[in-house]
Amino acid sequence: MLSAQQKASAFDPHGGPFKELLSAETIAARVAEMGKQITEDHRDHGEDLVLLSVLKGSVIFIADLCRAIALPLSLEFIGIASYGDETKSSGVVRITSDLTRPIEGKHVIVVEDIIDTGLTVHYLMHNLRTRRPASVSLCSLLHKPSRTARPVDIDYLGFTVPDQFVLGYGLDVAQQFRNLPYIGYFDGE
Ligand code: 5GP
Repeated sequence: MLSAQQKASAFDPHGGPFKELLSAETIAARVAEMGKQITEDHRDHGEDLVLLSVLKGSVIFIADLCRAIALPLSLEFIGIASYGDETKSSGVVRITSDLTRPIEGKHVIVVEDIIDTGLTVHYLMHNLRTRRPASVSLCSLLHKPSRTARPVDIDYLGFTVPDQFVLGYGLDVAQQFRNLPYIGYFDGE
């Protein structure tokens, strides 16, 4: 468990309890590139482009990413949770907060914080396809390939990361540390 002092020092990427994996500058440069790529790929989709944030981990990423895309688009949010405590990695998830608008005929880009086993996003992509969008693609800031249980095609990927529990830039530990500007991992006992 972290002491109050350790928690307070977590905002220093070099002196706190977490080891920096990706600096704020490194993340910003990659997000800018991803925004450019999405802009090029979706030029013809105009007002039919929807960026769909999977709550809560991707909110910081989507806030930066959407401003790196030079196209008209709309934002949607979806809340999903694992079904019960025991089935965390079963891929059976429930929607806790659904989209506010239909996506039929729209070009949807699902924006995730991290693809770990792939089970959550596999379920989500299947669910979204039943709503008859024109296309659904997947954008994830991070991917942990060593943990793959259900392979998924990631159309836009920020970084591949090792099998460490990572936090910051939207990713939490017990709902905290989402507001760290860098991505780190716990380096200690
Ligand atoms: P998956 O179904 O791919 O195993 O789980 C994906 C979700 O698990 C992510 O959207 C994220 O919320 C959570 N998750 C997976 N790995 C990590 C991690 O290293 N750190 C944090 N904070 N969350 C993770």
